[in-house]
Amino acid sequence: MTDYAGLAAAMPAPHNEASHGCEGLAKAIYPDVTETINEICARYPKRNLPAGAMVTRFSPSPTGFLHIGNVFGALTDERLAHQSGGVFILRIEDTDSKREVPGGVGLIIDNLKEFGISFDECATEGGDVGAYGPYRQSRRAAIYQAFAKEYVRRGLAYPCFCSEETLASMRDAQKAAKANPGYHGGYAACRGLTPAEAEAKVREGLPFVIRFRSCGDPSRTAEVRDLIKGTLRMPENDQDFVMLKSDGTPTYHFGHVIDDTLMGTTHVVRGDEWLATLPYHIQMFDAFGLRRPEYAHTATVDKRDGASKRKISKRKDPEAKLTYYLEAGFPIPSITEYVMTLLNSDYEEWRRANPGSPHTDFPFALSKMGVSGPLFDLGKLRDVSKDVIAGMGAGELTDLTLAWAARYDPKFHALASGDPAYLSRILSIGRGGPKPRKDLAAYSEVGPYAVYFYDEAYVPAPDPDYPACLDSGTLKALLTGFLEGYESSDDQAAWFGKVKEAGARLGFAPDTGSYKATPESYLGSVSDVSMALRLAVTGRKNSPDLWEVMRVMGAGRVARRISMAMEIRSAKL
Ligand code: GLU
Repeated sequence: MTDYAGLAAAMPAPHNEASHGCEGLAKAIYPDVTETINEICARYPKRNLPAGAMVTRFSPSPTGFLHIGNVFGALTDERLAHQSGGVFILRIEDTDSKREVPGGVGLIIDNLKEFGISFDECATEGGDVGAYGPYRQSRRAAIYQAFAKEYVRRGLAYPCFCSEETLASMRDAQKAAKANPGYHGGYAACRGLTPAEAEAKVREGLPFVIRFRSCGDPSRTAEVRDLIKGTLRMPENDQDFVMLKSDGTPTYHFGHVIDDTLMGTTHVVRGDEWLATLPYHIQMFDAFGLRRPEYAHTATVDKRDGASKRKISKRKDPEAKLTYYLEAGFPIPSITEYVMTLLNSDYEEWRRANPGSPHTDFPFALSKMGVSGPLFDLGKLRDVSKDVIAGMGAGELTDLTLAWAARYDPKFHALASGDPAYLSRILSIGRGGPKPRKDLAAYSEVGPYAVYFYDEAYVPAPDPDYPACLDSGTLKALLTGFLEGYESSDDQAAWFGKVKEAGARLGFAPDTGSYKATPESYLGSVSDVSMALRLAVTGRKNSPDLWEVMRVMGAGRVARRISMAMEIRSAKL
């Protein structure tokens, strides 16, 4: 990165006469700024990292809300840094107080922590971690001002005193003349002030912003390499854009250049909404004599909307918010896993070949990222999540589900938390083995899935849809007969033998083959018998393996369920 030794000396000479006499102007603007930029740079030494190590940063604005798209960016940054032995930074861009929501910073930090995104250097609620801070822009005011003072002194930036009305009439004039809008060239009124004139206005106490003095010419082309989009060719910028607002806080543009220089960022990964102003940024790096970072502009995350696709919108789509996934009970590894599949197209293939490996073993690369927006598909996330949950042990899933329920589903928590071992036995049904059940996509689905195991919450169907071949007398005889022989210690084969026997005594075929061959010889088949037992014990037509369900419930509960079913049936008559 930038070699700071003699940074000021290395700076290109100002491009015009503007710097003559700017010393006094710079002092008038920033009378209290005494630290030089060389002194500041000395506090941010070149990082001692191995060759190829990347320094990346995730730099959200605390708007009180993290978008699912932020996870794409943050995970990209994290992978690049940690895969290369580099450094991953969290920087909070909180200089726009209009957009800031109270508690927004804490919320971002908590959410990211919950997502397991680990930073090497960051702002935390308790203070900064890392030697390249402060990591909140709001605490870097003195730094921006020192740099701004130097650039004013060198004629690379200047104060602008134009009021809103002046700017509005400038826009009207541009419209009438069909000129390009914006503060540029002959329209940039304050650009033409002599340093002495500007200094006088500052001393008068007029409010001002600090603008960059552009020497770009839009008829020329600027070229920048983007690590995702390839070489970009854009007209040079000629706008004298704002670097510091009238309250002294930096715009995104200036903050980006100064912070990423001092923090030693090697790779800037950010949304492609910043492409439009990329010419501003490269112009500043060049004009200030600073080394440009590498850029990677990521496409926005889209969703399907009817036949077309559109950006996931925070206004229209609840799934835009990161907290939606937490509330919905998606395990964090499911989200990470799914986002990885969208970030690099060969991830799924790698996953198939490396089913047990952590995602961090995957060779992630910017060059494998798509130029157009990834399509976010909740259905696909659910599928990925079913695999992730199927891969968890019953004990692990129990703990995670109860922790989730404590926060988001107090009813289920009250029901299940008293006996985690019972929930764990329930969740062990069909778990493990070569073909595990894959019916749970989120912790929130455990409650509805398991609720019938709990007597306090079990509501038997008032009119279960028993197979038509079972009249009430036969049903009662079947259930009673089964219960007499039931032993919860029976293995699956013995259990099934008893189910068949209970049916056979009443005229049910022991297998569907025999039934199909001569249906007239039977009342029904063993599948009718199983269905009747399932309905009586679980109240549902579908359940995991009934032998396992009964073993988990235990003989007492099975007996109670069966007598309850018989009572309901008798009451119906
Ligand atoms: N605060 C900016 C945003 O939220 C950061 C962009 C960047 O990463 O440079 O869009």
